[in-house]
Amino acid sequence: MADLDGQVAIVTGASRGIGRAVALHLAGQGATVVCTGRNREALEETVALIASEGGTAEWVNFDVSDADAVKGAIRDVHQRLGRIDILVNNAGITRDQIFVRMKPEEWHGVLSVDLDGVFYVTQPVAKIMMRQRAGRIINISSVIGMMGNAGQANYAAAKAALIGLTKSLARELGSRNITVNAIAPGYIETEMTAGLSDEQRASLLKTLAIPRLGTVEDVAAAVGFLAGPAGSYITGVVLNVSGGLYI
Ligand code: NAP
Repeated sequence: MADLDGQVAIVTGASRGIGRAVALHLAGQGATVVCTGRNREALEETVALIASEGGTAEWVNFDVSDADAVKGAIRDVHQRLGRIDILVNNAGITRDQIFVRMKPEEWHGVLSVDLDGVFYVTQPVAKIMMRQRAGRIINISSVIGMMGNAGQANYAAAKAALIGLTKSLARELGSRNITVNAIAPGYIETEMTAGLSDEQRASLLKTLAIPRLGTVEDVAAAVGFLAGPAGSYITGVVLNVSGGLYI
């Protein structure tokens, strides 16, 4: 029997990158995975990939920054599947700009997806998990939330806030057998980092203890660990998956 047999997992931003790898990993552990995002075709691809590996998944299309859409979607998933055991808040964006030039829409754009979106999705899911008296919530933050980064004040603020949210929820929900943790990836090979120039990559590698960019599977394995039986007594932690970018 697989670790997560009979469990239902929701992964936001599962249409590509880290979220897709997390969805594949959790399905490989036996969970039924609800893959969410905005791009329907890409979500269909994730679900087809999971099916091709013998897993079970479905997709639901919503924008995490749309509070009403999120509420309706979570209610529908719960009605259809009867439970929600694992939530991975992965959807996220960057809108990089040096601070003195940052426009309000660049600031609010990132905060509305990377932070407000987590609030909108987690609140209805937490209510369901509280009634179940069981659940795992895993928030994908970033080492940038702990280190800061020039040109990413909006993103760093959102990802740092996500760590505060994680620790507070861990304290609120622990008595209901719900763990809440954050994963802080470093630089991972995805579309989000595809724009790095060769020069940027070369100087970045010099700052890493393990001199390579991370893979989406590196992050997915950490999510699988926290979601599985080995994670049952771990809550309120920030697990860095950064190759030593931040120590
Ligand atoms: P990515 O390849 O750009 O994928 C982002 C995912 O988020 C996509 O599936 C996208 O789906 C979804 N998304 C974006 N805006 C959304 C919205 N408004 N509503 C719903 N879904 C939305 O990014 P990634 O590199 O895999 O990053 C995933 C997470 O890891 C993010 O939270 C990111 O901040 C974090 N992270 C990444 C790195 C890295 O180096 N890549 C490092 C640290 C942390 P749709 O376009 O279909 O909506």
